[in-house]
Amino acid sequence: GIRPLIAGNWKMHGTVREAARLAEAVREGVEGVDLLVCPPFPHLHTVSVVLLGGRVAVGGQDCHAAGKGAHTGDVSAAMLRDVGATHVILGHSERRADHAENDAAVLAKTKAALAAGLIPIVCVGETEAERLGGLAESVVRGQLEGSVPYGFVTAGGIVAYEPVWAIGTGRTPTEDDIAAIHATMRAALVERFGPAARATRLLYGGSVKPSNAKPILALPEVDGALVGGASLVAEDFLAIARAA
Ligand code: 13P
Repeated sequence: GIRPLIAGNWKMHGTVREAARLAEAVREGVEGVDLLVCPPFPHLHTVSVVLLGGRVAVGGQDCHAAGKGAHTGDVSAAMLRDVGATHVILGHSERRADHAENDAAVLAKTKAALAAGLIPIVCVGETEAERLGGLAESVVRGQLEGSVPYGFVTAGGIVAYEPVWAIGTGRTPTEDDIAAIHATMRAALVERFGPAARATRLLYGGSVKPSNAKPILALPEVDGALVGGASLVAEDFLAIARAA
């Protein structure tokens, strides 16, 4: 099947020195698994240099939709490429919530990432209220439809299913629920992009840790994980990768 990807989203944590140490500790990676770390912007260049020649790729946690311009505080996809990033996380629920990013905004950013030659990791996922209301599948379908552009699949775009209520809470959906959403995402992508979308990586994210990684990563249509908290501990991140 698809070679697994274990991606670490470091979010807004650590000093540049801690980031360099963490990168150093994971840089040899794990045989048979692709690894990626996404540090905060100020740490990107240092981490990228530490990881040169290693087995771990580097990504950003967001980018602007424009190529350049008067956008104080923002970072372009080309800037990420310039500091050695190959990937960028887009539409994470924390950005959708903290920065009011809607599907249209995520779509524009994803197009910008593709145009700059970055592999986008587009995040989707329902809130707890939506899940309780029986809306999880339709919310995820809608987000996919709205935030994944034409050309995404052929460029190697990645989708991460991250139920909002599972992020940083220690709670995860049941294995059946994860498998059901992943099957829905695969079907939606194949419907829209054709059989090429069978090779699109679908990651699960939300409270993934060494103790639950193996059964989650063994589920059908789960091609890897997007890991938050546990990716800040080198041993845990590598243990998750070994479970893939
Ligand atoms: P946690 O692994 O800390 O739950 O975070 C998941 C996440 O949001 C990864 O992007």
